[in-house]
Amino acid sequence: MKKFPLSKKETLGLIKKYPTPFHLYDEKAIRTNAQRFQKAFAWAPGFRNYFAVKACPNPVILKILAAEGMGVDCSSFTELVLIDKLGFMGEDIMFSSNDTAYSEFTEAKRLNSIINLDDTTQLAILEKTVGLPELLCFRYNPGSLREHKGNIIIGNPEEAKFGMTKMQLFDAYRTAKEKGVKRFGLHAMIVSNELISDALAETANMLFTLAGEISKEVGISFEFINLGGGIGIPYRPEQKAVGLEELSAKIEKLYREKITTQGLGKIKIYMECGRMITGPYGYLVSTIINTKDIYRKYIGIDASMANLMRPGMYGAYHHINILGKESSPQDLEYDVVGSLCENNDKFAINRKLPRVEIGDIAIIYDTGAHGYSMGFNYNGKLRSSELLLKTDDSVEQIRRAETLEDYFATVKNFLVP
Ligand SMILES: *Cc1c(COP(=O)(O)O)cnc(C)c1O
Repeated sequence: MKKFPLSKKETLGLIKKYPTPFHLYDEKAIRTNAQRFQKAFAWAPGFRNYFAVKACPNPVILKILAAEGMGVDCSSFTELVLIDKLGFMGEDIMFSSNDTAYSEFTEAKRLNSIINLDDTTQLAILEKTVGLPELLCFRYNPGSLREHKGNIIIGNPEEAKFGMTKMQLFDAYRTAKEKGVKRFGLHAMIVSNELISDALAETANMLFTLAGEISKEVGISFEFINLGGGIGIPYRPEQKAVGLEELSAKIEKLYREKITTQGLGKIKIYMECGRMITGPYGYLVSTIINTKDIYRKYIGIDASMANLMRPGMYGAYHHINILGKESSPQDLEYDVVGSLCENNDKFAINRKLPRVEIGDIAIIYDTGAHGYSMGFNYNGKLRSSELLLKTDDSVEQIRRAETLEDYFATVKNFLVP
């Protein structure tokens, strides 16, 4: 089990300066992990991960990932504005949106980003609004053709709103070619938070086969195949991280069999992982402010589902440690809750923990992706700050907490007293 990177003394010192709750990210661990990931796929022509911005849209984190060689995967106007400001340009940007507004295509084209179309109807829209770019990518949804179904987060491909059918996909490439598009990419994202390397490699298998079929039938060659994100992380202590070297070896073998031997050229391999890049290296630090003993025992912390939605939204497990009590007997069973007036505002249910007291610090693990970014303001909850533990062991606040002024700023003629 991974250890929280600060001692109890350091944490208490930090909390004096930056009140809980906050998310803390570990820069050194993020960089080491990014390097390990890229090294594992060094065999793949032009390998690049386009970090899914939605996972952790903090500018400082995005700059760290850029310095490690990553591109960015965006899906909204706001995300495009953010990455433009950070200096990402052209093919550093993958625009993988769905249910896209015209204004978003305009911005994506203005930045010369790689546009990944989610539906055939978008081809005509794109042509009419901003003109077709020289390079286009299309997103595939295999529906019932997929052997290994996705899990709860994306679900069964037949019920997923993303991507186009196989027939539509062939038509899309044919039409794009006729209309003068010169360079092509192929994309799918079928699984999410997947820990089984065979299930992850199956996406490569499917896309490599498909690329061969499309190339032959439509008479185009592919410049890249984007395997999507979805590499899982071990949220539970008994789970094991995906062996990146093992996954890479499986994909390399498929590449050799399906791409190289069929003479499809040196097709580049891209991914758009978010979760596995920053997820394990973020922590939600909170203070226990209440305990309650009714039909169950409750621990009430000063964070809520508004700071971390995953447990309430998908019943996701996040490991919790009580700072300084790691080696005390974990012999009491609690629900760890926030203060929202919703009974799914629970970080843990029937969780074995040590006896706690008000004022103890609860550390919630693996909040570096889809944590802060999924936050919301229900019940008037204000978003927390984000802190970065830097490589020199100093801590910098990289986003302040929201204030009442922020919360009321959109209301007409309402000033905070
Ligand atoms: C969410 C998403 C990702 C990132 O998924 P992770 O589980 O964070 O790796 C990548 N691509 C698309 C299109 C997505 O929607």
